[in-house]
Amino acid sequence: MLVSAKEMLNKAKEGHYAVGQFNINNLEWTKAILLTAQECNSPVILGVSEGAGKYMCGYNTIVGMVNGMIDTLGITVPVALHLDHGSYEGALKCIEAGFSSVMFDGSHYPIAENIEKTTELVKLTGEKGISLEAEVGAIGGEEDGVIGAGECADPNECKMIADLGVTMLAAGIGNIHGKYPANWAGLSFETLEAVSEKVGKMPLVLHGGTGIPADQIKKAISLGVSKINVNTECQLAFAEATRKYIEAGKDLEGKGFDPRKLLAPGFEAIKATVKEKMELFGSVGMA
Ligand SMILES: [Zn+2]
Repeated sequence: MLVSAKEMLNKAKEGHYAVGQFNINNLEWTKAILLTAQECNSPVILGVSEGAGKYMCGYNTIVGMVNGMIDTLGITVPVALHLDHGSYEGALKCIEAGFSSVMFDGSHYPIAENIEKTTELVKLTGEKGISLEAEVGAIGGEEDGVIGAGECADPNECKMIADLGVTMLAAGIGNIHGKYPANWAGLSFETLEAVSEKVGKMPLVLHGGTGIPADQIKKAISLGVSKINVNTECQLAFAEATRKYIEAGKDLEGKGFDPRKLLAPGFEAIKATVKEKMELFGSVGMA
């Protein structure tokens, strides 16, 4: 059964570790992440962007697939199914479809409008026991077409949004989506400390987890980050393993073209990446 992300994140904040959000793209992705979470006895959040939602034939299809897998694979660790960077309309659709968690990304609206829309969603999700993530300060890189400048959030604005009653808060602290450029300045711990101080017990979310050095991840967790989003890293691992399989000509040997064989190395690569992240975030054994 899907659960809200609230309890797992509050536990993570108290226990000084973070729960990974791993974005899904298809059946193989979902199965690899769920099995790894179970093997690691770790809570997990499955992220779905609106683009990935369309790709997987809509939110109802996704809810059906994830619930079916949890049942068939015997997954007993806490699993939240979460809309990543949702629009207001997208969040409503996911709430309707049976997601257990949604993010409303109002960071590109003026703060007053972000507050107004977030307030409405606090009410709607609260009634259904669904967790809600809000964002302040756009996160750089590409968020399904929304380009941010990699800015740092204003701690006072963070407090205004946190006080509305959201479950968790994503604040820009110099992090970006996708691959980090060579001249990246690193995370702004100054901003993170200021935000942490303002929002108190509220779990903070770090987006763009791919390529942030391990020591910076650990420091961010120590300063109140309880959820870390990983997307690009699984994509890179999947692509590399699949390319190697084909470059080695294995699809031309015997029945190597069978999709269940062709996609197996990529599947295993996602599993290895997720396990590595769960170990780094400290969520292993915390289910
Ligand atoms: Zn993000």
